[in-house]
Amino acid sequence: MLEDLLSANRRYAAGFALAGLPARAAKGIAIVTCMDTRLEPLAMLGLAPGEAKILRNAGGRVTNDVMRSLALATHFLGVEEVVVLQHTGCALAHEQDAVVAERLAADGVASPEAVDWLAMPDPDEALHADVERLRTSGLLPPATRVEGWRYDIVDGSIARIVTA
Ligand SMILES: [Zn+2]
Repeated sequence: MLEDLLSANRRYAAGFALAGLPARAAKGIAIVTCMDTRLEPLAMLGLAPGEAKILRNAGGRVTNDVMRSLALATHFLGVEEVVVLQHTGCALAHEQDAVVAERLAADGVASPEAVDWLAMPDPDEALHADVERLRTSGLLPPATRVEGWRYDIVDGSIARIVTA
């Protein structure tokens, strides 16, 4: 499979059209979203390469690393608005960290309870907390707009859950 990826890249590079694209986010947007393979962050929002910073992890949670990236993106790379974009049907939604840890233990992981898995027993509460963390961190410029949205994996629509 990995060899297939590299041969696909040779075709991609042969027709490469993004040379010279600036590193700044042309539309001033950053999207924090889940790693879920069903999500197409650029396509679902009408965005193109060069227009937005996309940060992905399990759940689309605001972690220390997301804070780090957004501090740099807002101060140096043109980002002025941030959306935390979680989704329905997420493996971490309506789930408990203890249950995730139990599953990992059953799969042979030695001390899974040592990791904060950021499961979301209450998805709305998690989304509000993630937005609040960004708004109050002190790491982003005070004028940065932050909202929390939820993408519906059944119909492709987005609900605005936490507004500015
Ligand atoms: Zn997910």
